[in-house]
Amino acid sequence: MQLKTIEKLCCPFDKSDLNLQVLVKDTAQNIIEGILSCTVCQRNYPIVYGVPIMAPDEYRQIQLEQPIVEKWKLEHDLADVKLLP
Ligand SMILES: [Zn+2]
Repeated sequence: MQLKTIEKLCCPFDKSDLNLQVLVKDTAQNIIEGILSCTVCQRNYPIVYGVPIMAPDEYRQIQLEQPIVEKWKLEHDLADVKLLP
């Protein structure tokens, strides 16, 4: 997904702006992997294969998202990432 598109996204929980941490970009500068973070509610939304995973809490599949984030933590030396507050 392109940066300018990602910048238009807001938190599905409280509609706040999101901070973007870019982990992997392709040669066209599309963001392939990253983490969108809401500083208001402390939710984190991973970007996986270029797609932000931004469902409301009841539709999120944390058991699928968490292993991806754990892998990124090792690859990118990230601090702890809590998907839900
Ligand atoms: Zn939020």
